[in-house]
Amino acid sequence: MSERALHPETLAIHAGWRADPSTGSVAVPIHQTTSFQFRDADHAASLFALQELGNIYTRIMNPTTDVLEKRVAALEGGVGALAVSSGQAASAFAVQNLAKAGDNIVSSIALYGGTYNLFANTLKDQGIEVRFVDPTDPEAFRKATDERTRAYYAETLPNPKLEVFPIAEVAAIGKEFGIPLIMDNTAAPLLCRPLDHGAAIVMHSTTKYIGGHGTSIGGLIVDGGTFDWEANPERQPMLNTPDASYHGAVWTQAVKPLGPIAYILRARVILLRDLGSAMSPFNAFQILQGVETVALRIERHCSNTQKVADHLAARKGVSRVIHPSQQTGEARARADRYMKGGYSGLLGFELEGGVEAGRKFIDALQMFYHVANLGDARSLAIHPASTTHSQLTAEEQVATGVTPGYVRLSIGLEHIDDILADLEGALRAALGE
Ligand code: PLP
Repeated sequence: MSERALHPETLAIHAGWRADPSTGSVAVPIHQTTSFQFRDADHAASLFALQELGNIYTRIMNPTTDVLEKRVAALEGGVGALAVSSGQAASAFAVQNLAKAGDNIVSSIALYGGTYNLFANTLKDQGIEVRFVDPTDPEAFRKATDERTRAYYAETLPNPKLEVFPIAEVAAIGKEFGIPLIMDNTAAPLLCRPLDHGAAIVMHSTTKYIGGHGTSIGGLIVDGGTFDWEANPERQPMLNTPDASYHGAVWTQAVKPLGPIAYILRARVILLRDLGSAMSPFNAFQILQGVETVALRIERHCSNTQKVADHLAARKGVSRVIHPSQQTGEARARADRYMKGGYSGLLGFELEGGVEAGRKFIDALQMFYHVANLGDARSLAIHPASTTHSQLTAEEQVATGVTPGYVRLSIGLEHIDDILADLEGALRAALGE
């Protein structure tokens, strides 16, 4: 099948797999094995020398995981992907594959709290400086750039503000310098394809919508295959100078017979080899089950969330609803430019009565789960200031858009009447009605 011509709904079910050649199995088998028998000594040597790509050891690749990688790469319009053990590992690898001690990246400040911590503290301790900028002003990326800037980084639909990132504008600035834009597209699979707007790399926490059932932690990086890493070799030394840890390979040259996969191949054979954050074949299988229904699920997440946004916007006692449909001006224009088919399943709101009312609301929910997750089939709620963003200082919380009374909802796939009934019950309890 020509995958490029197929629609996302079809790719989500078919990309990367037809049937098992030895058994005819239609479902992707779980290859629960650490290692793979080489045909002979020449075969083993050629795999290790990357003359041909193939299975060596499950830390580096695995046939079950390979299908997941191909499928998400097809959905995002990329040429290759690397699955890893979590979204956090994907964010770390996406940056560490381009930047080392002494280098910097420029990142939007509107980030998931875990990514913010990784960037502000752990990468900093490793000598990689992350320069945080206001995502609403694309020129801020240019201003923060210097000769050691290796990448730009942002989320498509960052919570809590839920203001869509100016992907094409920032990607275009990056291209002037030879700097790739890495997009975390966790919140918007199928709704937005950042690679179509000029991003070079996309990452996902597959824990969320891609997996969709709250069973398995995972992460994935997709290589768009179009970024010209050689155009400005001093800008990207890790892909353009000999790599001592792989017989002096220069990745942009070494991959020439294999396709435009310098970035993603290096991430696999250097970072995954050395740091070992591999996805287990069982998790890859679980996440593949989720991918098969992601298109249908996303539609329902979007429509349910829109109905909740409309309901809360008209509700007495709700002081603010944070959802792209409530935005105006530039923020709304970006949402409509970059998101097609809906605004995802995330929504925030504030109650009159602030923190106390917010806490009462969460405690009074009966069907919604109170958990630190999003993108699940179930509806979820959390109070970010006291949980996901609690390791940030008060100023950092405000900078990332977490006000004290903010409640975040991840709207699930239940019937909308049941979702609204649960919200109403909790609102009445919180507002003392
Ligand atoms: N990126 C975003 C936007 C997230 O929401 C999360 C987790 O909440 C992550 C990355 C990290 O993913 P994981 O929890 O799979 O490590």
